Amino acid sequence: MDIKELYQEIVLDHGKNPRNKNKCVGFNKDAKGHNPLCGDKVHVYLKLDNNKKVEDISFEGEGCAISMASASIMTETIKGKEFNVAKKILEHFLNMLKEGSKLGINSLSEDQNTTMMSLSGVKRFPMRVKCATLAWHTFIHAAEDKNETVNTEK
Ligand code: ZN
Repeated sequence: MDIKELYQEIVLDHGKNPRNKNKCVGFNKDAKGHNPLCGDKVHVYLKLDNNKKVEDISFEGEGCAISMASASIMTETIKGKEFNVAKKILEHFLNMLKEGSKLGINSLSEDQNTTMMSLSGVKRFPMRVKCATLAWHTFIHAAEDKNETVNTEK
């Protein structure tokens, strides 16, 4: 299996069987996101502890396979991480999507880096980048107590 096939398989798997797709028990923050160009909608639920660590995170929503896979991958990747670390991970992720830079995030396992890299193919489809980043921006909104819905077109 070459790397492209591996990436495709990871995205398909997360798209078909999204992880943490529910309303997590005891969430204390949440935010909604909408990508009108594609019709993706997500609602991110977040439980931040007193030290701003992501104790739990989950999502609900509907949308294309990329948006659902990315939300699923996000919840798996940042659960248990400090908010500041999660923000750094997002920065690397955005750079990867824009510039195709390779991921080698120290705070993540090799498997987790590979799983995040599986979304790198969207770089060639600018509209798809919005699908892939929607849940991540929504997570930041939830954590920072911003009330308005994330809209990829605003
Ligand atoms: Zn989409």
